[in-house]
Amino acid sequence: MEFATFAARAEQLAAEPGDIGTTLAVADLLEAAGSRGGSNDAADRDDATEGDDADDLATVTRFLLGRVFPAHDTRTLDIGPALCREAIARAAGPNVTAADVEDRLASAGEIGAVAAGFDFGGQRGLAAFGEGRDALTVAGLDASLRELAAASGDGSESRKLDSLFGLFNRCDPAEAKFLARLVLGEMRIGVGEGTVRDAIAEAFLTDPESESAESDDEEPTRRADDEAVGAVERALQVTNDYGRVAALSRDEGIAGLRKEGLVVGRPVQAMLAQAGTATDAVEAFGEVAVETKFDGARVQVHYVPGEGDDGDGAETDAVDGLGPKLYSRNMDDVTDALPEIVEHVAARVDVPVILDGEVVAVDDAGDPLPFQEVLRRFRRKHDVGRMREEVSLRLHAFDCLHADGVDLLDEPLRVRHTHLVEVFPDAAATLEFANDAEAIAAAEAAALDAGHEGVMLKDPDAAYTPGDRGQEWLKRKPDVETLDAVVVGAEWGEGRRADLFGTFLLGVRTGPDAADGGTGDGGFATVGKVATGLTDEALADLTERLEPHVVGESGTELSIRPEVVVEVGYEEIQTSPTYSSGYALRFPRFVGVREDKSVADADSLERIARLAGDSA
Ligand code: AMP
Repeated sequence: MEFATFAARAEQLAAEPGDIGTTLAVADLLEAAGSRGGSNDAADRDDATEGDDADDLATVTRFLLGRVFPAHDTRTLDIGPALCREAIARAAGPNVTAADVEDRLASAGEIGAVAAGFDFGGQRGLAAFGEGRDALTVAGLDASLRELAAASGDGSESRKLDSLFGLFNRCDPAEAKFLARLVLGEMRIGVGEGTVRDAIAEAFLTDPESESAESDDEEPTRRADDEAVGAVERALQVTNDYGRVAALSRDEGIAGLRKEGLVVGRPVQAMLAQAGTATDAVEAFGEVAVETKFDGARVQVHYVPGEGDDGDGAETDAVDGLGPKLYSRNMDDVTDALPEIVEHVAARVDVPVILDGEVVAVDDAGDPLPFQEVLRRFRRKHDVGRMREEVSLRLHAFDCLHADGVDLLDEPLRVRHTHLVEVFPDAAATLEFANDAEAIAAAEAAALDAGHEGVMLKDPDAAYTPGDRGQEWLKRKPDVETLDAVVVGAEWGEGRRADLFGTFLLGVRTGPDAADGGTGDGGFATVGKVATGLTDEALADLTERLEPHVVGESGTELSIRPEVVVEVGYEEIQTSPTYSSGYALRFPRFVGVREDKSVADADSLERIARLAGDSA
């Protein structure tokens, strides 16, 4: 396909008003690209996806999304706006400078329109010799851009400039517009990933009956069904390559898409989480898988042990004998910045794996440090060795997408987790199961105590869906705010803790006069009891502090003069007849004693009412 054809189609797409119209127009373009010299021989497919002349489908699909390389590919063109402006200026002739291009950009607002406004060498040059210009093809352009991307080292910037200049030189205005946009990665034609996904299904996976309706000259009614779109979506999730999936859809249909698996060394998008509460999780999942939420940076680990020798290479075709590779959440290669993680994985893992996890900075005792510390290491290109001395890192793997030749994406979390601890025992996160919000609150308190960020609540039966921010993973919403409550009562603990107070009745101020100390809970209204988040030390300390203020005892319950203020977290505030305030804290959690606050500074009933209203 000539690039001029692509550009003309792109221009039409940009003018297309409706979603369905756009999808159908993209499908048409894909069919056109896929039929020219298109081969139904699956053996050709891999070549085609590498930009082979014989098949433009993969290239056109990527170009539509402003891409030369698939998303998982760590190669980039690395052409910045300045270099692009410079190349345009050069191609526009001796009287045009990069500053002129910049001026035009300031008024046009977008590089494509600027590029289309010049008269490039193609029109002035070869045509003058009567030969017509040397037309750019989609495949030729793709090959040139790939070559350009490979330029590295000294002088690579000027070689890139030369090649890009050469390409602009061969463009007419319509082509120049889309070349400029393509190299900067933004096509501005209103075609997003969802549209391309639907169009692939539309072009190659519609059912034959409705196709025949079209060939009978009836209205085109072809619509890809959910199954087809789902199969495309799924193949996109595992390959992250729109070009490959388009070619595969055409050549092998839904069955071919379904066969597409993970490749160790080809990163996939990370599964993401939504915010949610413990109650949400219990309601949605019944049994909840509770994991520590580590405060670090996401990494995906790909590793094939035994460098240079990975058996028959069946599942690792792209990457024979792959040393550990680490990818960020955006699928960037961050391997070189994290040598100790690489060493650790290489030392501990014996089978090919893809793991998902979080890299956390730790202190000398192995306790987690704040997230900012990881950032000092994560994308570093220089001084890696020196920084390694300064900031130690640890990998907490929490998921396993592939183990020893088997893809696990469709397995439930509980099964994936079994594989995880099998292949990478010491650095894998532990998974606990909880059936109620109390247990989740306790796990969260323990995670916070250990210096982590909180907990993730996951559906133990859910598959791993790359790139999806669904309901299956919930990040426990942090407490909006904590409360400073006054301890107005306590209960003795049980068992090992029978000689310590174990549960504390919390009160808030009911009016200004409450500040005078009052007696009992006069001037205070109760809002709940806290027993979670208390270590043995905290219990001993609180018992010692509160004992002198005990004013009454009945059974195991004690009334306490309001003297001590404690900070408590909670999930939400509900109206409730149980406590005298008319409100109850759900899942209160002890944070600490507020030494700095007197009871006069404690929170008031008015604030509770406001918070309850806020959270309703
Ligand atoms: P957030 O960045 O607040 O959207 O929280 C989600 C992020 O938490 C994920 O992308 C991970 O980087 C991180 N995370 C930490 N621990 C876990 C875990 N156990 N499971 C999943 N994600 C985790």
